[in-house]
Amino acid sequence: MSHVWCHGPNCHTYSTQDRVRGSKGSKVLRTRKVKIYDRSNTHMYSYFCSNGCYNDFAHKHVEQIIRIAPRLEPLETRIEDPKKVTHEYQYGSYTTTEIKKIDSNNNVG
Ligand SMILES: [Zn+2]
Repeated sequence: MSHVWCHGPNCHTYSTQDRVRGSKGSKVLRTRKVKIYDRSNTHMYSYFCSNGCYNDFAHKHVEQIIRIAPRLEPLETRIEDPKKVTHEYQYGSYTTTEIKKIDSNNNVG
């Protein structure tokens, strides 16, 4: 088992007990270590200690991240014509719009 340092740019600034390191008189808050259990199965928590650190990274590097996969045109998901559905209950009723996706194999789901 190995580790990486959390990639959150502000990880070392959050005041939590587990980030405190150093000897008396020269204490610091240090970036957390993130354990990697399986290098063939990585995900965001393989590089970030928390969702907050992941968000900090995304906010700081958003322009570079977007360049990985720019969205120049909208995507679309095929759907059936939406239907109004009225739900009855003891004291009245309410109406919702039912939207069913059509998958690429034309199965309704
Ligand atoms: Zn972190």
